[in-house]
Amino acid sequence: MSSMRITQAVGLGGVNNNNDVKAVQTALNKLLKLIPSTKILTVDGRLGSRPENSKTVAAIKLFQSKVVGMIRADGKVDVNGRSHRKINEKLTDFEKLQVAQNMVLSKYFKWSEFACHDSSKTPVPNEYKNNVKILAEQLSVLREKIAKPIHINCGYRTPEHNSKVGGVSSSCHLTAKAADISVKGMTPKEVHKAILDLISEGKIREGGLGLYNTFVHYDIRGTAARWGNK
Ligand SMILES: [Zn+2]
Repeated sequence: MSSMRITQAVGLGGVNNNNDVKAVQTALNKLLKLIPSTKILTVDGRLGSRPENSKTVAAIKLFQSKVVGMIRADGKVDVNGRSHRKINEKLTDFEKLQVAQNMVLSKYFKWSEFACHDSSKTPVPNEYKNNVKILAEQLSVLREKIAKPIHINCGYRTPEHNSKVGGVSSSCHLTAKAADISVKGMTPKEVHKAILDLISEGKIREGGLGLYNTFVHYDIRGTAARWGNK
């Protein structure tokens, strides 16, 4: 998510493939604080008929002189060139800062994905935020192993919502230590197996693991608990 991928050079004298230009525009928009007075760029994948007058090229030049430290900013981002590498370095910093400030939960998950599924979408209470962070870290390991996005069917539950959906009163969902997940392209059994493997390899935390027909429950209670169809 954090790194910018381009297939060919973007900017003055670049090949300027539409998707590459979009990638640069998107990346620079996240780094606007580093290039003050630059306004948010339209992500249209274009530099216009006169690239030398394009706002995107102006932003690339400013980034090169201010951040890369180039004496002659050439307005071009070469694949794996200095500017490209510096953009990626700064994107990583940006992402870490967002995580540190709790603006985003992690590389793969958003806070909103773990909010209660009640009518007011009650967010995870502050006292349980650290649980969600730990849970998301474990799920990120799974995410990387299976190389597929994980859908959070259910994360945190308010006590009211928990009783409404028939959850037990000791449910780990109440403290935001649990997630019911599904993965497109994998059966719950396959997801369940992947989690079991990671636990036995010591790559994710021991906890509760339940196999259901349409999803898998995983929680970070710390001790082993297993249930559901086999
Ligand atoms: Zn559950």
